Amino acid sequence: MTTPKSKKVLISGASIAGPTLAFWLAKYGFMVTVVERAPGLRLGGQNIDVNGPAKHIARKMGIEEAIRAANTGELGLQLIGQDNQVAAAFPKEGAMSGTQELEIIRGDLVSILYERTKQNVTYWFGDSITALEQQPDQVRVTFASGKTDTFQFVIAADGIRSRTRRLMFGQEPIFEYLGLYTAYLTIPRQETDNDWWRWYTAVDRRIVMLRPDNQGTIRASVAFLAAEQAYDNFSSADQKQLLKDTLAGAGWETERIVNALDEVSDVYFDKVGQIKAPRWFIGRVGMIGDAAYCPTPLTGKGTTLAMVGAYLLAGELASQQDYQAAFMAYEKRMRPYVEEVQKLPPGVPWLVYPRTPLGVSLLNTVAGIVASKPVQGVFGLFTSAKSKKESQDDGIVLPDYRESSSLI
Ligand SMILES: Cc1cc2nc3c(=O)[nH]c(=O)nc-3n(C[C@H](O)[C@H](O)[C@H](O)COP(=O)(O)OP(=O)(O)OC[C@H]3O[C@@H](n4cnc5c(N)ncnc54)[C@H](O)[C@@H]3O)c2cc1C
Repeated sequence: MTTPKSKKVLISGASIAGPTLAFWLAKYGFMVTVVERAPGLRLGGQNIDVNGPAKHIARKMGIEEAIRAANTGELGLQLIGQDNQVAAAFPKEGAMSGTQELEIIRGDLVSILYERTKQNVTYWFGDSITALEQQPDQVRVTFASGKTDTFQFVIAADGIRSRTRRLMFGQEPIFEYLGLYTAYLTIPRQETDNDWWRWYTAVDRRIVMLRPDNQGTIRASVAFLAAEQAYDNFSSADQKQLLKDTLAGAGWETERIVNALDEVSDVYFDKVGQIKAPRWFIGRVGMIGDAAYCPTPLTGKGTTLAMVGAYLLAGELASQQDYQAAFMAYEKRMRPYVEEVQKLPPGVPWLVYPRTPLGVSLLNTVAGIVASKPVQGVFGLFTSAKSKKESQDDGIVLPDYRESSSLI
């Protein structure tokens, strides 16, 4: 058996899954390089949750307090009606609020993970993998910069559009489109803003959200139903124009998003779909996070899956003699959890994207009833047990690999 120090691992993608995997592999004695295509960390995006098992992993990594300190201060969720009134409110403390205890801006979590790992992990920015050649004991990697190198393992953590996945598996049809597109951008905060997550449903199947951050700006998102191939290969300028057209006449505060679009450089724009891959590994190359099993923001669990997958894969690689056995053990633990997380309630997302004013009004009325104190009280009786369970394990076991590994 080779000792871990001789094991060089390349990870593609420096977001959530990549640096979390890098942290644990480096802790177990592997030599880890993370290659990121962007010239620096990509800090865009909205609020994400670090819950249940992800919170447990963050604690083990010593970053829970940093995450807590970067809390967005969001007070809960408000649904905005067609007359710009608050149609329903779900305070953070309630059983039904989407706002979680550890609510953090995605970019802040990316920075925290980078800061926590940069001493023990090599980061290459502005480069990416262009070719992978599996050899008996290693993988030969060619980079866009022209560099070549060999690694014992290569792990793709480069997101839903992973090119490394394509190099590994070709065009396997694993993207399950859910019928909508989404865009995230950061816009200036103005006096009328508050610290609630404000959710506005417009007619013609459009949803706009504004959420507070801890940086004096507002995180905006736009989501709308569309045919799958509608906007493939759109340039960033095309995407901005499309968003402007989509928001035209939508009402509420959508005009300020249109006005901000020209000033923003990092607009995250993509179609929403789940990655359902029949295999996650081939030889010495594998994938984790959104690249392997993106559940979509509709589940609120993308970050959790990314961190749990990274923790488990590193632990199995450190504690198993044979890497193939490690990959199999990892998949055996992870796949049922992924399948559970990827299950969406019937009617999602179409039900919450009404086309007509009547549909919007009905939706907000129902939400108002559900948000009323008596209903929340009754609902709380049924949900408290589940919430408690989720906060502990969420249906996935996280072994303490320090006990089983002789490598630490
Ligand atoms: C800019 C951005 C904004 C986002 N905003 C939100 C949000 O607001 N809400 C939400 O729920 N989710 C958001 N996401 C997705 C969310 O981060 C993931 O669902 C989840 O955290 C899992 O993360 P991941 O590390 O697997 O993948 P991702 O977070 O998607 O990260 C993939 C990383 O790989 C890099 N990369 C891509 N291609 C290559 C390549 N060929 N070579 C090297 N590196 C590459 C990307 O630049 C990125 O840093 C966003 C992702 C990005 C990249």
